[in-house]
Amino acid sequence: MQDDSDNKPGHNTGNKPWSRRELIGGFSAGLAASALGGSAFAADSKNSTNPAKPEPLQDPAKKFPKPPFKGQSQPWPGLAGKMQPPPDHGEKSYRGSGRLLGRKALITGGDSGMGRAAAIAFAREGADVAINYLPEEEPDAKEVLALIKAEGRQGFGIPGDLRGEDFCKQLVAQAAESLGGLDILVNNAARQRTYASILDISTEQFDWTMKTNIYAPFWTTKAALPHLRPGSVILVTTSEQAHDPSAELFDYAQTKAANSNFVRSLAKQLAPKGIRVNGIAPGPIWTPLQVCGGATQDKLKNFGASTPMKRPGQPVELAGIYVLLASAESSFTTGHIYGATGGAGQP
Ligand code: NAD
Ligand code: MG
Repeated sequence: MQDDSDNKPGHNTGNKPWSRRELIGGFSAGLAASALGGSAFAADSKNSTNPAKPEPLQDPAKKFPKPPFKGQSQPWPGLAGKMQPPPDHGEKSYRGSGRLLGRKALITGGDSGMGRAAAIAFAREGADVAINYLPEEEPDAKEVLALIKAEGRQGFGIPGDLRGEDFCKQLVAQAAESLGGLDILVNNAARQRTYASILDISTEQFDWTMKTNIYAPFWTTKAALPHLRPGSVILVTTSEQAHDPSAELFDYAQTKAANSNFVRSLAKQLAPKGIRVNGIAPGPIWTPLQVCGGATQDKLKNFGASTPMKRPGQPVELAGIYVLLASAESSFTTGHIYGATGGAGQP
């Protein structure tokens, strides 16, 4: 495990309320780190206390790269740092405004894709963040931890495979201990493979997908619940595949339907305890999962072309949704699935 920001100004280890000095200290540390260029992206970090320049209106369909893309493949689980073009997780653009000040979040799959976009945004909104990832993803994870640190927040990396109940329990215990509590759990990690036929899916592969996408959120959430007080939040990354499954994502799409019903059922169960549960349903998003077996080369070259915006989404375009659903601003929203699909359908 790595602790990248112990004893930094603005660091609140306990559950005590944040003092004015800590809040200001935290922001200054972020500004100082940014000014010093603590990471490749830090110098461009726009902290919440900076007066913002108005941004010109921009056509969302033209905002990010469009297909055709270069064919590319990586060994699973893939690295964002090796994708062409590189995905945008908000490294240079996400601007916080203190919406998650003092919160303590655990994000699975926080090294890349949607999890990384959420981790960067949560830190810029004032949260301390622990991320889980696979050991092979250390290079991506290191960049995320550096970005969290550049905001003057605590960042912890806890690598390990979520397919085992013991690890899921250990992950939550370690995250809660390092962060000094837990108020936000994001079940985001997943496995996606593309298969032309059900006959190509071995029992071992089917089980792998089920263990990662269904069992891990079950185990992780059970372990997290004793730590979550009223006001805490559970988020799950589901998919448009939950309600509009592709022929070639037979096993994956089933797990995403399960993820959506996880949200809808657990929200009812936990509302009386003051814990909200919501889901995010992305459409095609430019992430490593797609280039390491999640899509065919043909689909990849035209990735996102079938959406009304004729392009894939970038992880940063979902960052604000994770923040909204994690923050107390959405206190009457639970059991909800928030879609971001470029117009291609609703949850
Ligand atoms: P990603 O590859 O960046 O993230 C997935 C992460 O899952 C990996 O970084 C990895 O750390 C983690 N992971 C996989 N197996 C694991 C295991 N056994 N143990 C521990 N960690 C493991 O891709 P992404 O697209 O950002 O995926 C994040 C979420 O978004 C997933 O739930 C996925 O189903 C969902 N989603 C993605 C898309 C898309 O088009 N990219 C669309 C809809 C939904
Ligand atoms: Mg990854």
